[in-house]
Amino acid sequence: MEENGTILYGIDPLILRDHYEIDYRHSYAQDSPFFVGLSKGKLLGSRCTVCDYVFATPRAYCMQCGAATEWQELPLAGRIHTFTTCYYGGEAFLKETPFTLILVEFDGADTLFLSRLKNLVPDQVCIGLPVRARFAKTPAFKVTDVWFEPLDCAGSR
Ligand SMILES: [Zn+2]
Repeated sequence: MEENGTILYGIDPLILRDHYEIDYRHSYAQDSPFFVGLSKGKLLGSRCTVCDYVFATPRAYCMQCGAATEWQELPLAGRIHTFTTCYYGGEAFLKETPFTLILVEFDGADTLFLSRLKNLVPDQVCIGLPVRARFAKTPAFKVTDVWFEPLDCAGSR
């Protein structure tokens, strides 16, 4: 029999288990093209319409000069700028923990892109490693629709 309600595990500090579910409707507003792009196997950054600064993580407005930006498709391959191994994660990542977070640098982009690295054990990850984007076959329109693998990774689709 499944237990319902709040379960108290301790009082100092207060630790409890509680169950909740919620459905909600939300808009990605100006970020929508980025997530639609992921569903089509594209990485969309943004380029400043005045100073040409390119953001790998898209921005509606330039953080250098404040002007509006326009969408720009990024290369699907880049290099690891830096990385960290996560031994704890949210519910969506528990099955793949430990996992590696990477900042990817792309030719032609002035900022980095945060993502996950798959198909490489943490102690083999290194700065400068060439990586390529992979996309979920069934998009959920979330940032987890994209991840990276080593460029020469065998067994990729
Ligand atoms: Zn600018």
